[in-house]
Amino acid sequence: MNLDPTEEQRRWRDLAREYAEGEIRPRAADLDREQKFPYDIVEKMADLGLMGMTVPEEYAGSGGDFVGYNMALEEICRADTSVGITMEAHVSLGCAPIVAFGTREQKEHFLGEVVQGGKKLWAFGLTEENAGTDAGGTQTTAEVSDGRWLVNGSKKWITNGGTEITGGVTAIARTGTRENGKPELTAIIIPQDTPGFTRGPGYEKLGWRASDQRQLYFEDCRAPEENTLGERGKGFRQFLSTLDAGRVAVGALSVGLAQACLDEALARAKERRQFGRAIGEFQAIQFKLADMAMEIELARNMVLKAAWLKDEGRPFGREASMAKVFASEAAKRAADQAVQIWGGEGFMEASAVARYWRQVKINEIGEGTSEINRQIIARSLLRDDTAREEAGKMVAQ
Ligand SMILES: Cc1cc2nc3c(=O)[nH]c(=O)nc-3n(C[C@H](O)[C@H](O)[C@H](O)COP(=O)(O)OP(=O)(O)OC[C@H]3O[C@@H](n4cnc5c(N)ncnc54)[C@H](O)[C@@H]3O)c2cc1C
Repeated sequence: MNLDPTEEQRRWRDLAREYAEGEIRPRAADLDREQKFPYDIVEKMADLGLMGMTVPEEYAGSGGDFVGYNMALEEICRADTSVGITMEAHVSLGCAPIVAFGTREQKEHFLGEVVQGGKKLWAFGLTEENAGTDAGGTQTTAEVSDGRWLVNGSKKWITNGGTEITGGVTAIARTGTRENGKPELTAIIIPQDTPGFTRGPGYEKLGWRASDQRQLYFEDCRAPEENTLGERGKGFRQFLSTLDAGRVAVGALSVGLAQACLDEALARAKERRQFGRAIGEFQAIQFKLADMAMEIELARNMVLKAAWLKDEGRPFGREASMAKVFASEAAKRAADQAVQIWGGEGFMEASAVARYWRQVKINEIGEGTSEINRQIIARSLLRDDTAREEAGKMVAQ
């Protein structure tokens, strides 16, 4: 067992840390207050190769592995999760399905356009008004007419959906009904300038305020039929697999935020004096710091193990859900304790920990809520147990 990162993984982590600490952290509070999308930061991150991290080099990407990507993402999120989610949604949700399921032509065309020079962002449109956790409840429809998909419906809260540099969205639509009565779902690549495709204004949010989420509208939107991602009818499997990997990345995002909470808590514990001593000398504060550090260590290991399994081509769905639930809940506890250690100052908007406390909640919701991830974990345990019982019976026979 080797827990040392490779030279390449270390290089990505250090590059991301240096840029995040130097250029993102100093601006994070202003970006949050002004709710401004940081075009210059995203452009620079693209120049550094961070926005195309897991896209193969033959499609103009950086060709990094999944472990290295998650290490880099943690560093960006330690500085600001608003910027982190822009990177995560683009790499894990925007580019990854095209890499995994796209035809060679689609990869060359869309990834080339998006990643080359990092001039564009790509979005992933699954959620709708009546299809959140129950993504199978998709009501957006698409039918083929004259060699084009005719798409009608809308999507909700789509990250990177409406920036000035968004290239388009891969949207899930209902394209028929299967024999068993379940919907046939297909993923369709829809460039931003497709006729009939429009976007709503950005939302007022509790956190991730410098990131972009929009409602997307399709009214007789006509996308070429060859923009079907992979095969027609494979949309459900494609988005489940995309979300598995996305959950590992939301785990990394959570670890970065938890680490930022610990950084702030440690600084305050050393600096703030009460009863003639630094508060870090009180055992009550020390125990909080120790608990935060232990949980971060465990969450980071879970994220990197799940990422490593994916890099090895092994099943990683259960580990992805475990990493996401544990890391997002550990981050919530870390944000809570960081505010507690900062006392009244932590309740002031001027403190970083107040921002972290606002930002942390979404990690338990996006890309599969904690409830649904716990169900995924439990079902996989029950499935394995039944399989073991069946195997035992066969041996007994
Ligand atoms: C800031 C932000 C960015 C987002 N970005 C994107 C994006 O880029 N692309 C995209 O497609 N979507 C995006 N989403 C949507 C996000 O993935 C959904 O919010 C999430 O999947 C949960 O769906 P919902 O909010 O509709 O909750 P609901 O499905 O309404 O769930 C509400 C509650 O009920 C629980 N619940 C539901 N069903 C069950 C069940 N069977 N058993 C137990 N509990 C259950 C849930 O766990 C939750 O606690 C984004 C959301 C936000 C807020």
